Amino acid sequence: MEGSSHGGSSTTRSSSSTGSTAAVQATNDDAAASKLSCVKKGYMKDDYVHLFVRRPIRRAPIINRGYFARWAVLRKLLLQFLKTESQCNDSDQKQKQILSLGAGFDTTYFQLMDEGIAPHLYVELDFKEVTSKKAALIDHYSQLREKCGPEVSISKEKGEIISNHYKLLPVDLRDIQKLDAVIDLAQLDPRLPTFIIAECVLIYLDPISTRSIVRWASEKFATAVFFLYEQIHPDDAFGQQMIKNLESRGCPLLSIHATPTLKSKEKLFLDQGWQGCSDIIDLQRAVAWDMLKIYNEFLDIQERRRIERLELFDEFEEWYMMQEHYCVAYAISDAEGLFHDFGFPKDEHLQSST
Ligand code: SAH
Repeated sequence: MEGSSHGGSSTTRSSSSTGSTAAVQATNDDAAASKLSCVKKGYMKDDYVHLFVRRPIRRAPIINRGYFARWAVLRKLLLQFLKTESQCNDSDQKQKQILSLGAGFDTTYFQLMDEGIAPHLYVELDFKEVTSKKAALIDHYSQLREKCGPEVSISKEKGEIISNHYKLLPVDLRDIQKLDAVIDLAQLDPRLPTFIIAECVLIYLDPISTRSIVRWASEKFATAVFFLYEQIHPDDAFGQQMIKNLESRGCPLLSIHATPTLKSKEKLFLDQGWQGCSDIIDLQRAVAWDMLKIYNEFLDIQERRRIERLELFDEFEEWYMMQEHYCVAYAISDAEGLFHDFGFPKDEHLQSST
């Protein structure tokens, strides 16, 4: 699903710990083009993604459906997070933060602004090559620039955008010290509820870097959700092919053998300090579901019915297999008791229609 051919020629660090940096950055172009393909077919609404795609392409129905599911699960969990309310009556209760690691050309911030539900602060991090391109595009298109607020400062050279409620900053996520400095620069407040997004990012890093980032986030934010979307099951025939495809494009999934199963994704979080809230016994601190289960048991049934009518679709075997090789794992730290109702349904709450 990711990793088509083109991309910049620059590299920032040795290729041993992320494959080719340029090739991994190019997976971002691929993701944006695939999201645009979905938007054009009516799977979802996004008035901005076309501004980030140089060469629009039409994806096969199965790919469109996969990207729809990816988009819909993130969106549903994000909206749950934005709706959570603190029990105590402190004045900060509406202030929330989103931190997107390896954000690429993701447009969620602009969509949330349109819908009037953007959080207090939205921070996006990526390699400088990517943030510079994104900063240039945001500067160029007034419909994007205006959403950053009147006081926005944009530097294409530095690959930076700084405004009151939106920040785009360059960093190599593997450098935890710099990551810390960037978080300070972004004025993220470790005390505020924070939703951390890592969508198809950590799997490209070496396992030590992945673990360090997950640990860093657990130590930094006391009230947070860490959302992960990425591949699983490298060892069966489909998984081996998936890995080969990405390797041949220069972006191996360096972390996949460290976390090859749903259980091991959950363990990644539990081992790195995501311990939920000890007061709430039934709160699951780390949960991983594959995308087939998410599609069937979490995404809205009306939405599924709607999108299933958009294109002729008969690749069911392949669809099941593909969806079983992607997953969402999330982990919760809940110092304030905000997240009782957050997440996938517990068994007894499953949607009756599935
Ligand atoms: N999250 C976006 C983009 C996914 S592509 C989406 O789902 O649409 C992966 C992104 O991670 C790329 O933009 C790539 O540049 C970024 N990335 C990979 N390794 C990184 C690193 N070590 N530091 C910063 N960004 C990284």
